[in-house]
Amino acid sequence: MKFNIAVAKGDGIGPEIMAAVLRIFDAAEVQLGYEYVEMGKSYFDAGHSTGMTAEAKETIERLGILFKGPMETPKGKGVKSINVTARKVWNTYANQRDFRSLNGVDTVFSKAGIPINLTIVRENIEDTYGGIEHLLTNDVAVGRRIITRPGSAQVIRYAFEMARRKGYSKLACGHKANIMKLTDGLFLETFYEIAKEYPDIQSSDIIVDDLCMKLVSRPEMFQAIVLTNLQGDIVSDLCAGLVGGLGFAPSANIGDNISIFEAVHGTAPDIAGRGIANPTALLLSGILMLRYLGFTSTAAKIENALLYTLEQGIHTGDFGDKSVPASNTDTFADAIISNLGKMPSKDGVIAQPDVPNKANQDHPAKNKLTVTNGNVKEEMIGVDVFVESNLQPSELAAIAQTKLTGNFELIMISNRGTQVWPTGSIFTELVNEYRIRFEKKEGIEITQKEILHIAADLSESLKVCSVEFLMKFGGKIGYTLAQGQ
Ligand code: NAD
Repeated sequence: MKFNIAVAKGDGIGPEIMAAVLRIFDAAEVQLGYEYVEMGKSYFDAGHSTGMTAEAKETIERLGILFKGPMETPKGKGVKSINVTARKVWNTYANQRDFRSLNGVDTVFSKAGIPINLTIVRENIEDTYGGIEHLLTNDVAVGRRIITRPGSAQVIRYAFEMARRKGYSKLACGHKANIMKLTDGLFLETFYEIAKEYPDIQSSDIIVDDLCMKLVSRPEMFQAIVLTNLQGDIVSDLCAGLVGGLGFAPSANIGDNISIFEAVHGTAPDIAGRGIANPTALLLSGILMLRYLGFTSTAAKIENALLYTLEQGIHTGDFGDKSVPASNTDTFADAIISNLGKMPSKDGVIAQPDVPNKANQDHPAKNKLTVTNGNVKEEMIGVDVFVESNLQPSELAAIAQTKLTGNFELIMISNRGTQVWPTGSIFTELVNEYRIRFEKKEGIEITQKEILHIAADLSESLKVCSVEFLMKFGGKIGYTLAQGQ
């Protein structure tokens, strides 16, 4: 029996490469049925603010699997990226991107005889991709970076499970917890918590800048790396460069209910409509999807045909030997079809028996809410009030002092995160947004209402931009100190 999936052809080169891939699927007798859904630029243009029709949403939520071509989000209309929205709305929390050297795809590393085979698992929902940004003064924009314990646990557990499934012996966590102590710190802490459940996998962590340096100098050090969203996005494009570019970078966006399979690259507007795009990344994404759905023997058959074709030196215009004429999208797909059943001389995949229909088609009755360790004792310590001001730090401190009630102390003032009062450097340059930190006096209990009063009182003399509470959780401070504090 066929398993039905939703298919969105996408924009730009999307329809061309999707047609090529589905033709290869058909020739390989993939046991899939396709329900085409309406998503992408033309649906934004037709007035659908989410870039998809209500029917498309219903179909994807019913089927649980979306195989999609790249999509363009109209610029300057204030609409959010359809690609990011789809990943977030349907909670596809893990973005798995596999990178391996392919015979016939020359890179600096293949020429040096260094094979690359590594997987990046990128958190897919949180981080700065929440897109929560505000212009607080005409000069100062801020964005919220959201890292959560349940969200981190979901993607990290997925990465460990994937490592085990692939027979990897190690998993590294890339991070910047030396600077972003609470956000990346939480991700890293969760990584080592979950690592305890996987003693068979060697776990380690690495600061993301060092990781980038090591990836380009000694990529063979790594098997799998799990990262937060933005860092994972950047590092995975770096890895695409290691194996020959975006034309060879597949991706799977995995969720508990809905999963999306797509190439890493975009709509390639510069070559769209010319029939010359490379369908390999979308095909590799389709192979990931077949494996995810349990169609492992068909996945192996297609992958072997692709590897065999590449070994023959057959290539599209974006890679390969320039002295050999380039195939177009269709003739490249034809070559793969004619090679179905053949085995490459190197890195051939041994077919495993199929275990079909793994997709979870549960339909939850309400939104899932995850709270961890709700018994941790919380204590309110104070508040950071962010204000717009052109005053000098000491003048601002004088105003803030007048707003103090008996329960609070003025602790410090910072500008762009650097302390400028009570001590600082005359060489610290300022912008017109300050943070003023008030903390309660020792031994006193304070309420949120009292704290908000401080901000309200300050607003009589200064423009308050935003307010952030200072809390302790289980006795640990839940806020950072200013640089120089
Ligand atoms: P892009 O990936 O579309 O193109 C970058 C370069 O790579 C171009 O020179 C292009 O010709 C080439 N390229 C990409 N895919 C190729 C392929 N399969 N074969 C041969 N060459 C290929 O990136 P961009 O130009 O920055 O973005 C174009 C549009 O795609 C934007 O609207 C962007 O928002 C969108 N986009 C969508 C997705 C997605 O759907 N997941 C991802 C990235 C970008």
